[in-house]
Amino acid sequence: MTPTTWVPHAAGSGHDVDHLPYGVFTTSDEPPRVGTRIGDHVLDLAAAARATAPSYVALLDAASLNPLMAAGPETWSAVRAWVTDLLLDPAQEAALSLLPVDDVTLRLPFEVGDYVDYYASEHHATNVGRIFRPDGDALLPNWKHLPVGYHGRSGSVVVSGTAIHRPAGQRKAPTEDAPTFGPCLRLDIEAELGFVVGRALPFGERASTADFATTVFGVTGVNDWSARDIQAWEYVPLGPNLAKSFATTVGAWVTPLAALEAARVPLPGQEPAVLPYLQEEGPGGYDVEVEVELNGTVVARPPYRTMYWSPAQMLAHLTVNGASLRVGDLYASGTISGPEKDQRGSFLELSWGGREPFAVGDAERTFLEDGDEVVLRYSAPTATGRLTLGEVRGTILPTR
Ligand code: MN
Repeated sequence: MTPTTWVPHAAGSGHDVDHLPYGVFTTSDEPPRVGTRIGDHVLDLAAAARATAPSYVALLDAASLNPLMAAGPETWSAVRAWVTDLLLDPAQEAALSLLPVDDVTLRLPFEVGDYVDYYASEHHATNVGRIFRPDGDALLPNWKHLPVGYHGRSGSVVVSGTAIHRPAGQRKAPTEDAPTFGPCLRLDIEAELGFVVGRALPFGERASTADFATTVFGVTGVNDWSARDIQAWEYVPLGPNLAKSFATTVGAWVTPLAALEAARVPLPGQEPAVLPYLQEEGPGGYDVEVEVELNGTVVARPPYRTMYWSPAQMLAHLTVNGASLRVGDLYASGTISGPEKDQRGSFLELSWGGREPFAVGDAERTFLEDGDEVVLRYSAPTATGRLTLGEVRGTILPTR
């Protein structure tokens, strides 16, 4: 039985004392600092440290989570235990600053280092293969041997709530003789899960799958906005470039791995067996449920537990060549799609390449229109209920 927090309306919510995600917030009168969400409130952790744990002030009176993450996994555990104790002990209430979450401004929670985006859903990769190569094999020969990915643009990672201008670029339909320049006509989402690296790895070293829990600090939702027409023309032969680099939205809250212990599940199964450096002990997956909401209507429910590659395998692959890691590096799963039609995490799949418009309430969509608002919501089981990861929200504005 979970002990009960004294914060009103927190017990049994998606932000109970067994969750405690970290974010960075400002108020009208004070600079950015680290907080945790409990119920519908934000606990000011910089103020709490000044009052009860001065050694944590330098980690928490900070404009990003990077100092806390850089302090290492033992400190991650100690800070989480300290915050938990504060929220379970009613005698602490008077010493703490608890602010309604609607009264604070949430910022990008970490300084993003390098950013890699994977392609780890077999259902997504198969759907995309069928849409683009109807006469060939849906999966390319490498797909079940390594987690396919590309390096993205960290400088364009923005926090939930940031408006997204429709990108412009070169597009050329197969029926056209020459490319034209103009607003993207096939603007899309990719519902993904992101993993935030909290430990530096020196140049030349490798992180193994067993290093996952001491290397990755936490998890956040990701929307990898994608310009499909720009992508289709530019990606040969080196992969996505401008079709992805204009914006990637992450949640304002980073959920520590420790809060997701009850959500661990085995992978669906890997055949053929993976090479030794990708092998992993214990369950590699996470039972995170995702909802894709467009203009207030849920249009898909992708299940993360169906992903083929685990985040520990993505980490091991990322560093097997000796590439370094920095605190704040981000890697994302790739579009999460399940086997069912209503479990597809991109409009490309929901509209089958734009050929089958899908219903959104009384309207229909193939790709995003100006004014559309997308919200990705994520939840996962805990020992006694469910937690809610930070939402990933964005509205499409016209091309600048
Ligand atoms: Mn992606």
